[in-house]
Amino acid sequence: LLPILLHFLLLAATPYATLPSVLLVGPSGAGKTALLTLFERGPLSKQEDYESSTEAEKSPSPIIDGSPASALLTHTSQTPAAVELAISDDRSSSFRDEVDTSSGSNARKFLLVDTPGHAKLRRYALSHLTGTASLKSPSTASASFPDSAPKKTKLKAVVFVVDAGALLSDSEALPSAAEYLYDVLLSLQKRMAGGKGSKAPASIPVLVAANKQDLFTAVPAALVKSNLEAELGRIRKTRSRGLLDSGVGADDDVSAREDGDDWLGEYGSEKFSFNQLMEFDIEVDVVGGNVVGDGPGADKWWKWIAERV
Ligand code: GDP
Repeated sequence: LLPILLHFLLLAATPYATLPSVLLVGPSGAGKTALLTLFERGPLSKQEDYESSTEAEKSPSPIIDGSPASALLTHTSQTPAAVELAISDDRSSSFRDEVDTSSGSNARKFLLVDTPGHAKLRRYALSHLTGTASLKSPSTASASFPDSAPKKTKLKAVVFVVDAGALLSDSEALPSAAEYLYDVLLSLQKRMAGGKGSKAPASIPVLVAANKQDLFTAVPAALVKSNLEAELGRIRKTRSRGLLDSGVGADDDVSAREDGDDWLGEYGSEKFSFNQLMEFDIEVDVVGGNVVGDGPGADKWWKWIAERV
């Protein structure tokens, strides 16, 4: 009887009031919406229906938060689209599995939130990372999640999608992806560094999804990682120039560093590496995959997310 009682006590103590969420960010065209749609269509039967249907039938597909998915394929909207997904209690289910989310099941539900990748609209995604636009606040919630406004959500992880097929073949791709990633990581770093009181904020890990591994131009994950690190290091140097010109150097006291500090990672270090973010309790993983075509697929990303929501 005791274990049963304990079980109920535990359930009562941890009501499932807050829906965990995972934010999808990255440059336009990286494959964020494609990934969201893949995970949303998850169940194999639906997937097969989708694949066997004619082109004409394909377009207005599933209903996501009350609006057709086709509406998600454009990036003109300032508000992100969110889908509710679920993993089995033991976190072993694939995105292809139909997970029982009926009341009484222990499946974990979470929100996957797509954000516009266009440079002018990135502010939106970034504001969620710094907490200035809390996903919990009713005003933003109603604007962002029309149908899920009453639900609270707690940001658990960030997936930064990058087009590994274009990263080195398109000269603009690496600098622009790194520029965005720099802002994402810096926001998370500031969030960790600026935590008030003795309790540090819960850490938010980052998955860099090196997408489009089906393309022959695709750069493998290890190279995506080293290229991003090198580019982030360059950006750090450029951005710190202003800081150094203003007389704030490595030797200056911490208070001078604190306001407007745009230095990512270990202060004063020559080379940037993702490992330097461990100091701020930010884990960064770079994992290759693809949403369409032949390749490793999206299972590893799903697993990464499942372990963190
Ligand atoms: P978003 O702007 O990041 O949301 O990117 P989209 O999801 O709209 O995808 C941009 C384009 O990339 C679309 O034409 C997708 O079909 C394509 N795409 C997405 N993922 C993959 C992939 O893994 N491989 C290939 N070859 N194309 C992909």
